[in-house]
Amino acid sequence: MTTTPPAAAGGSGQAVAGQQSATVLVVEDEPAIATAIAQRLSAEGWRVEVARDGLSGVDAAARLQPDAVVLDVMLPGIDGLEVTRRIQADRPVPILMLTARDDETDMLVGLGVGADDYMTKPFSMRELVARVKALLRRVERANQVAVATPTDPPIVMGDVVIDRAQRRVHRAGEEVHLTPTEFELLVMLASSPKTVLTRERLLAEVWDWADASGTRTVDSHIKALRRKLGADLIRTVHGVGYAFEPPAG
Ligand code: CA
Repeated sequence: MTTTPPAAAGGSGQAVAGQQSATVLVVEDEPAIATAIAQRLSAEGWRVEVARDGLSGVDAAARLQPDAVVLDVMLPGIDGLEVTRRIQADRPVPILMLTARDDETDMLVGLGVGADDYMTKPFSMRELVARVKALLRRVERANQVAVATPTDPPIVMGDVVIDRAQRRVHRAGEEVHLTPTEFELLVMLASSPKTVLTRERLLAEVWDWADASGTRTVDSHIKALRRKLGADLIRTVHGVGYAFEPPAG
């Protein structure tokens, strides 16, 4: 099912597309939920396509090159975890994953699944739109940064090298593969070493959220960064937030 609003006619799906002409892929097997999401997102002026199972979702992502993906975790065939792996292996695209429970979100981030944001069912459509908008803003911002500052010097601290121009990270000479969200979170923390950044500030700067209802998202992504880069780099300041601790040497 494809719904193309008039605003999107004449071209979309480009990486640098503005929000009005963005393409959003929805992978959801529950017909009523899929239709409701598609209608609500189309009303924002985005081009929306729905896939009803995991394999169709992977195919649609390859064909459409969407600007963002809304992905249910429980799907017939291959599940949302495998869909995320396959989509991200092809090309990085921001993914908002729909989960059944809060602890499922923790579990998925712990596994390093690679979605950028998580939302637990049931959710409000208003919240969904806000989250997708935030994802698309971040894509635009990342593109603008990439164009504007191609020679941004790498951040080098101890054995950690963060190449902002190439968006690549190495620790002790080994490349560490981060999702776009994990990368932005790391850059934010490492840009102010030994400084405590509150969850609210991280949410505002990295996720572009105005409210602090998603603190679990921050904690989950910090866990993922620690697992990939080493637990020593990020210090928890209980009840406040997180600080980057430059490694010795
Ligand atoms: Ca489902």
